[in-house]
Amino acid sequence: MPARFVVGLTGGIGSGKSLVAELFAERGASIVDTDQIAHTLTAPHGAAMPAILAEFGAQMADSQGAMDRAKMRELVFREPAAKRRLEAILHPMIRAATLAAAADASGAYVMLAIPLLVESGTWKEQVSRVLVIDCPEQVQLARVMARNGLPEAQVRAIMAAQVPRSVRLAAADDVIDNGGTLAALIPQVDRLHDFYQQYL
Ligand code: ADP
Repeated sequence: MPARFVVGLTGGIGSGKSLVAELFAERGASIVDTDQIAHTLTAPHGAAMPAILAEFGAQMADSQGAMDRAKMRELVFREPAAKRRLEAILHPMIRAATLAAAADASGAYVMLAIPLLVESGTWKEQVSRVLVIDCPEQVQLARVMARNGLPEAQVRAIMAAQVPRSVRLAAADDVIDNGGTLAALIPQVDRLHDFYQQYL
């Protein structure tokens, strides 16, 4: 990992990671988003596509040459071994691309947005501090149902596949409480941004 100061940003689905990342970016942090990197790797002509098609067959590409996400989701849901095969391809590539982007970043400091930072285990040692965006599960549920138009049971299933709130909080160096309004969020971001800049 580069010698520079790196914050790992995480939180459950709907906790407000994207919103908080935007607020830090406005203040001068460089955001590197592992979800976006994964998406780019599996887009048409993405760097992971040759290996994915070699492993799973050409039928795993959609008409544009991107990974067929619906088909892959269905396969890994049915077959845990397929999930591991996909991760064996993607995780090292995501890690390398993330670290390269972090090393290239020009912002005051780097913030890595890693939804499954606590779950995946190995990211924690790559970052200087872990920042958890926290909110009550009821709020998470309502936000994701509204944002994605998903039924409650489906959102609950996604939440159940992530670590519980208490486990995530136990891994945090810093916590932003995003159970309230945007107005309540701003001063917390300002305070932490000042704090992170002291590390420079
Ligand atoms: P994540 O990236 O963690 O999944 P998002 O940042 O996309 O979460 O937030 C989930 C949804 O909730 C989005 O539609 C977002 O605009 C909304 N949201 C997040 N925080 C707040 C807040 N404090 N007040 C109102 N809406 C919020």
